[in-house]
Amino acid sequence: MDANKLFRPNIHALSPYSCARDEFCGEGAVMLDANENPYPNGVNRYPDPRHTLLKRRIAELRGVEPDRIVLGNGSDEVIDLLVRSTCRPGVDNIVVFEPGYSMYAVSAAVNDVEVRRIDLTPDFQPDERVLSATVDDRTKLVFLCTPNNPTGGVIPIAAIARICRNYPECLVVADEAYIDFADAPSAVTMLDDLPNLFVLQTLSKAWGMASLRIGIGIGPVAVIEVLGKVKPPYNIGGTAQARALELLADAAGFATRVAEIKRERDRLLHELDASGGFRKVYPSQANFLLAIADDCRGLYRMLADNGVVVRLRDLPPLIPGGLRISVGTPAENDKLLKLLKDEKNIVSRS
Ligand code: PMP
Repeated sequence: MDANKLFRPNIHALSPYSCARDEFCGEGAVMLDANENPYPNGVNRYPDPRHTLLKRRIAELRGVEPDRIVLGNGSDEVIDLLVRSTCRPGVDNIVVFEPGYSMYAVSAAVNDVEVRRIDLTPDFQPDERVLSATVDDRTKLVFLCTPNNPTGGVIPIAAIARICRNYPECLVVADEAYIDFADAPSAVTMLDDLPNLFVLQTLSKAWGMASLRIGIGIGPVAVIEVLGKVKPPYNIGGTAQARALELLADAAGFATRVAEIKRERDRLLHELDASGGFRKVYPSQANFLLAIADDCRGLYRMLADNGVVVRLRDLPPLIPGGLRISVGTPAENDKLLKLLKDEKNIVSRS
């Protein structure tokens, strides 16, 4: 992949905003460069725009070099950076699979970029035959979500590699927001072999830091460098960076909580299936389950009226009547299951 062709010409020409903290990295100096308030309150200074310490730690955890990483204000920001810096508005396009994560199309719409939508196959895999009829020389990004939101299945890394090789001019984005819940390898292991692979991850899910807004892009150094120029300099606050570093130190706690969520996911799958209230409950490699119900809207309402909020994903043709249910704590899951059981009792009595 030629990074020169991937990015919009104006992005190549961009001289990035040079922020004050870029120019001086020492400590203990008198900082009169950034129009900050000099009186210390813990947050009066601008944060590190390069996210140096955080990237170093994430690089260590993911087994990649820090210069392959860009951090965004959530992976939603990295998605937007990718669309904005590669696609010429009104000219280029992106390809997404449906049902899938809806932010790819939202970012494209915001940037006036065409979205080419392809239905997943009935077993929720990317349809590579339709993909070949869809990609053209104006396709800049192909998004693959694995495990997929909302269907919960993974795309084998061999298929990701094949798609990268078949479309060498496109950047193939493997969105692995839920990869830590999966019993499948990350595509990160293939980065050295696939020059057009870009992996998206996040601290919002398995790491439990949704409120800190830290998304991770891991890709070719040439692509990372350009995204680093486009991103707003102070896109992750200093408190968020510091808190994330603290929480990332607890690898053992992370492993315990992920294991607990996976156990609960499997229990929930079994119990929802056995409840008889759903036409189908799909197995999942993420921290949510997709359940299909004839009266999904009625069920959704009943649960919401009783204080349990799930997500309606009634998305024909592949998942008509879909409800996406996040895995909660054991007590939360029990509450959901009890409501479904009570509902069934009421319906069968009436
Ligand atoms: N990708 C997928 C597949 C998601 O489901 C989400 C969040 N729902 C995101 C990316 C964005 O996550 P964040 O911005 O919190 O990193």
